[in-house]
Amino acid sequence: MQIAFIGLGNMGGPMAINLHKAGHTVKAFDLSKDACAKVAAEGLVIAASAEDAVQGAEAVVSMLPASQHVEGLFLGRDGAGGLLQRIAKGVLIIDSSTIAAATSQKVAKAAQAAGIAFIDAPVSGGTGGAVAGTLTFMVGGSDADLERARPLLEKMGANIFHAGAVGAGQTAKICNNMLLGILMIGTSEAIALGVANGLDPKVLSEIMRRSSGGNWALEKYNPFPGVHENAPASKNYAGGFGTDLMLKDLGLAQENAMAVKASTPLGGMARAMYAMHSIAGNGALDFSSVIRSLQKNG
Ligand code: NAD
Repeated sequence: MQIAFIGLGNMGGPMAINLHKAGHTVKAFDLSKDACAKVAAEGLVIAASAEDAVQGAEAVVSMLPASQHVEGLFLGRDGAGGLLQRIAKGVLIIDSSTIAAATSQKVAKAAQAAGIAFIDAPVSGGTGGAVAGTLTFMVGGSDADLERARPLLEKMGANIFHAGAVGAGQTAKICNNMLLGILMIGTSEAIALGVANGLDPKVLSEIMRRSSGGNWALEKYNPFPGVHENAPASKNYAGGFGTDLMLKDLGLAQENAMAVKASTPLGGMARAMYAMHSIAGNGALDFSSVIRSLQKNG
């Protein structure tokens, strides 16, 4: 299959490489030359522009930071026409970015009017899951469009859930990330408390992992440096899932909560904590670096 892949960052890069390794012809594009160079080194073809990437494509996959990037790409900005005008009728768009459900619905509606299919398919599993091809996809869209997307999603992920109509994947994703944001702060607080009392962070983490406090951060993504060799914490919080991206997701969760009058006190507090952490200059670091704001010498 000929696939256009747009957005080759921490997640999109390895996802595009997995589609290429599975035998698809992937024409990839990113505004960042560095991001393009990384996937070119794996043998992928780099397009000169997003418009070039979608020429002849049967499917388009996008993996961009936030709502404004997805809307700007497909619908256009500042009066300029968007990519939808360049995509052929009948093509399927799979947007895996985490964005507002309302934006997914807006783009899907415009796509449908142009005879183009659209699903939102945000992911969970981190950069490790993106590299290993074990992501979890949360899909919003019709049964038929999901079945068209499934063979591609299976090359990038291990779990595929149909959350509902377009936008439902995004809603599931922000619920999950609100929980993750809260869990990372709670895990950080507990480890920081133990370490302040002289406990070894590895021993404490293992005790909690196997006890009632066990969670994904303790399993795979420990915020304390040196506990998990491959976690961002052990790489000076480089790569991974940026604090500013977590802040965006917690903001989406709060907007959503206000719209449906839901009570999300811990989600609100977590958003405020990541906001302070970002303002302190840590926006580009992995979100698990939030532990630094909870340590005496942090
Ligand atoms: P990233 O910042 O590493 O990558 C985003 C890429 O998009 C950048 O390389 C940027 O240059 C590119 N880009 C932006 N606008 C563009 C445009 N108009 N055309 C082409 N390229 C453009 O972000 P990421 O960590 O890969 O995350 C991408 C999305 O996935 C976000 O919505 C994030 O919330 C979500 N997500 C991330 C993780 C994670 O662990 N990093 C996990 C799950 C979901």
